[in-house]
Amino acid sequence: MELDKALDLIAEVPDFPEPGVLFRDLSPLFADAAGFKAVTDALAATVGPDVDLLAGVEARGFLLAAAVGYSRGLGVALIRKPGKLPRVAGRVDYALEYGTATVELPEGIVEPGQRVAVLDDVLATGGTVAATCKLLEDVKAQVTGVSVVMELAGLGGRSVLEGRQVEALRVC
Ligand code: AMP
Repeated sequence: MELDKALDLIAEVPDFPEPGVLFRDLSPLFADAAGFKAVTDALAATVGPDVDLLAGVEARGFLLAAAVGYSRGLGVALIRKPGKLPRVAGRVDYALEYGTATVELPEGIVEPGQRVAVLDDVLATGGTVAATCKLLEDVKAQVTGVSVVMELAGLGGRSVLEGRQVEALRVC
């Protein structure tokens, strides 16, 4: 399937999870075999050759990172919401488009000096990805870049990530 057609499978849901937010629902894309493959291949192509590990952000970033990791022969560090990990290497609190959030890095997964590419579904305000980069850099990993399926340009995520390589399959 063409990438554009695959990205068209992403549904727009107004006023979720709260009034004023146009939620981009990737569920139909994940459920479509050809669409999921097209997006996986395109995301895999954004990850440089010099990467040691992927970081996937819970929860949709897990699916993307797992698929890209399989395709590229890379492992995945799971960046999790709070309270899920038995051993935590670090945590970062941040502001979200809707509310606040926290991400945590499992202990003993990312080694100092490892080159890590960050994957997530949607780049909105950039808070989630910026917090993820901080988590990784706090343990002395090197973030090689950020790849997302969709960037919501109006929310300024790219400016929060200034100086980083940011790849988006679609910019809205
Ligand atoms: P942000 O930290 O503001 O860049 O938000 C990114 C995270 O929140 C991603 O993990 C997305 O899954 C989710 N998110 C934020 N805004 C939206 C939106 N409008 N539609 C779908 N997901 C969103």
